Amino acid sequence: MVSSEYERRIAARFATFDQDGNGYIDREDFSAAAKRLLAEFGTAARSDKGQALYGGAEAFWQGMAGIADRDGDQRITRDEFVSGAVKRLRDNPDRFAEIARPFLHAALALADPDGGGSASVADTARVLTALGVSQDTAATAAAALDTDGDGKIGEAEIVSSFARYFTVPE
Ligand code: CA
Ligand code: CA
Ligand code: CA
Repeated sequence: MVSSEYERRIAARFATFDQDGNGYIDREDFSAAAKRLLAEFGTAARSDKGQALYGGAEAFWQGMAGIADRDGDQRITRDEFVSGAVKRLRDNPDRFAEIARPFLHAALALADPDGGGSASVADTARVLTALGVSQDTAATAAAALDTDGDGKIGEAEIVSSFARYFTVPE
């Protein structure tokens, strides 16, 4: 049974990936996300952190394409996303964490200027806003990522939350 609530949630996940809103997910969406993050944190694309973020975005795109781009046209349509990505990611959330991790690791590094391996809730909210989460919900969403309650968002917290968000229960 496919409920309308389920459909609505899938549509929201698709929209998160389809950063430019043109109706399909492709490499451009991932590089656009990286570009927005770098702009938000005033980081140059050619810096080490910038290069790590673009590398992570490319790896994320390749991983998603490998899972969902059935016809190999370098675009993930809504249909491919629903029938390919959503189902396979739900069956294997660890796989999703693996393909998203380099990008999330690099995004967290932008928000973590002292290199301590974690970011404040406020800076994590900036990451979420740059990725298209509305300002109203970004602060709440960032605070919710702090599952161990130490006031900081670490890589394990962001990766597992991300995987949970995208592995929508049917
Ligand atoms: Ca797109
Ligand atoms: Ca395709
Ligand atoms: Ca924490």
